[in-house]
Amino acid sequence: MKTIKHLLFFLASIFLCTNTYSNITYTLVIHGGAGNISKESLSAEDIKNYENKFSHTLNIGEEMLKNGASALDVAVEVVKILEDSPLFNAGKGSVFNIDGENELDASIMCGKDRNAGAVAGVRIIKNPIEAAYNVMKESPHVMLIGDGAEQFSKEKGLEIVSPSYFFDQRRYDQYRNFIDNRDKGYNNQNNKDFKTGTVGAVVLDSKGNLAAATSTGGMLAKKYGRVGDSPIIGAGTYADNNIGAVSGTGHGEFFIRNVIAYDILAKVKYLNTPIEKAAKELIHDRLGKDEINGGIIAVDKDGNIAMVFNTTAMFRGFVNHKGEKETGIFVD
Ligand code: ASP
Repeated sequence: MKTIKHLLFFLASIFLCTNTYSNITYTLVIHGGAGNISKESLSAEDIKNYENKFSHTLNIGEEMLKNGASALDVAVEVVKILEDSPLFNAGKGSVFNIDGENELDASIMCGKDRNAGAVAGVRIIKNPIEAAYNVMKESPHVMLIGDGAEQFSKEKGLEIVSPSYFFDQRRYDQYRNFIDNRDKGYNNQNNKDFKTGTVGAVVLDSKGNLAAATSTGGMLAKKYGRVGDSPIIGAGTYADNNIGAVSGTGHGEFFIRNVIAYDILAKVKYLNTPIEKAAKELIHDRLGKDEINGGIIAVDKDGNIAMVFNTTAMFRGFVNHKGEKETGIFVD
């Protein structure tokens, strides 16, 4: 009798373990900015560096999700990794504003309760996404800017760096090139130096919670104090467990004016439009028609993803519990 009991217990444990494992479902999508970049302008080494960084970031996020981490924690962690890389226009690799300074923006949104946090125009916070997360979690506010955001981050014990931490020679050369050639029509829409590089993540975890996060240095040679779409909830970032999550990249002023992230999800919610179709309607039909550059990554509540851009390239990648994993840069 005792042996039978042990046997039943053993079989039940195996069943429970297998069942729990098979219940771990997740989707993680990341981007590293959209822009009009030709294949020739990136060396084989550049491409490898981007792909390696994306692959590594997806692996870290996937490992966390397999171990039951929340969508929010994964979003913060993967965006932090991309902020720490000089390859992207966020954190360490941020572009310079017209005064030759770096002013960084970031936001995060939790799909479960539609809570959100954002910071804008910060200059000494190593990882603006952590500051945004703290604004969401630890304050009654949604957005803090400039000195106030920095003061708050100090109080929360976040890592503070000197503004010179954000100096990157490649970005500085782009800035000098802009300053030296601005009379020659060196403009924002057709120069590869403006090739963005904002980073973002959308995540669906095994509990069905969604999160979206976006971080950026903004646009090269932006005016001092300019804030783009990335820290604006609804424009560059949005998440709602009943619909999906979106993170955008592109010409921020137009993302704000068209409330791109929210409008994509509104189409899914009110018109039942599939997420990829909704994204195409905004990115191609609305922005693309007016030659406004941009792209988005999105995941809906069922794990369907979209990686849509109207430029020649968007650094992007995804991984899910079905074992699918992909990274890409150019239009396929
Ligand atoms: N959307 C960002 C901004 O306007 C820039 C980008 O995504 O490249 O600040």
